[in-house]
Amino acid sequence: MKVLLIEDTVTSATVVCNWLTNMGLTALHAVSGEAGLKTFSREQPDLILLDIIMPGMDGFEVARRIRRQEKDNWTPIIFLTARADERDLQRAIEAGGDDYLIKPVSEVVLKAKINAMRRMSDMRDSLRKITSKLEKANHELQRLSAIDSLTGIANRRRFDEALLREWRRCSRSTMPLSLLMLDVDLFKLFNDHYGHQMGDECLKIVAHTLEETTQRPNDMVARYGGEEFATILPETNAEGALAVGEAMRASIEGLRIDHAWSSVSPVVTISVGAACVIPPRDGEAGIYALIKAADDALYRAKEAGRNQVRMSRGVIRVAGPGVASIGAAPG
Ligand code: GH3
Ligand code: MG
Ligand code: MG
Ligand code: MG
Repeated sequence: MKVLLIEDTVTSATVVCNWLTNMGLTALHAVSGEAGLKTFSREQPDLILLDIIMPGMDGFEVARRIRRQEKDNWTPIIFLTARADERDLQRAIEAGGDDYLIKPVSEVVLKAKINAMRRMSDMRDSLRKITSKLEKANHELQRLSAIDSLTGIANRRRFDEALLREWRRCSRSTMPLSLLMLDVDLFKLFNDHYGHQMGDECLKIVAHTLEETTQRPNDMVARYGGEEFATILPETNAEGALAVGEAMRASIEGLRIDHAWSSVSPVVTISVGAACVIPPRDGEAGIYALIKAADDALYRAKEAGRNQVRMSRGVIRVAGPGVASIGAAPG
């Protein structure tokens, strides 16, 4: 532990420095306020013993400057002074001091005060460490709470947040927002035939392949639940949504993962439903209409034979005065 003594009277400084050294502490001595501030910045002591009356900058000013300089830190300051006026004590505490000893100081009292300060600063250090650990843990928790544990891609919760965010953003900029719902075809049969573990592996590969197929930084693929995925495509019109949907369908088919029991294809395939809307202002309830439209389109892709992309037809009606138009496409 380093202790900085700022004291202009050399004889009394020598005595105090000796005591500090005998306590096993590293004693630093500065003979003026100005010199003290320099030593403080350079050495970053753990404790400061500060005289009040000094030529040039007095102890009050030194304390104020140290307090202004320190942002996330608080180096304890004990004033050592010949002034016994209680208003000086008040000023010293106001200037940022933690304790106030009247000279001549006894060795026993000084040691006891230093030990008390040390205890407090140890406590503060361990608090700081705990806080930093907690912050890290919190950060990690937040990250984990947003990802799907099986596939490592965004989970439903993150999807919900992102969809609301992009809805608002596109609403402000009157840009189209597209949504794809994607579902693995006849996946129950895949599990039945190859086992649940192979099913899990298949979902991981599908998830990463879908993610790799997206192009723009704000596009997001999430696991919506089970063997179902969702893709948010901000600032993307119906044509663009169909193109991405088709690219995703083709990329999964292109993986050529055996699915011997599928009546659709010898390999794993997905069906995709797409919907697009220009989110109206004050019509956030329309988010549900958008999801439903994409879901309905997915259902029709399934009915029509699976392994295909369908666009939602007609108009997505949203709550409130706004009616959001959607891109009508081949149904
Ligand atoms: P469809 O083409 O109509 O979507 O048929 P499907 O068999 O895929 O649909 P269904 O909803 O009947 O079955 C979904 C299956 O997905 C059932 C379930 O066992 C499987 N599944 C859902 N989540 C997981 C998972 O996390 N791991 C594995 N291995 N299978 C899952
Ligand atoms: Mg003095
Ligand atoms: Mg399915
Ligand atoms: Mg499903």
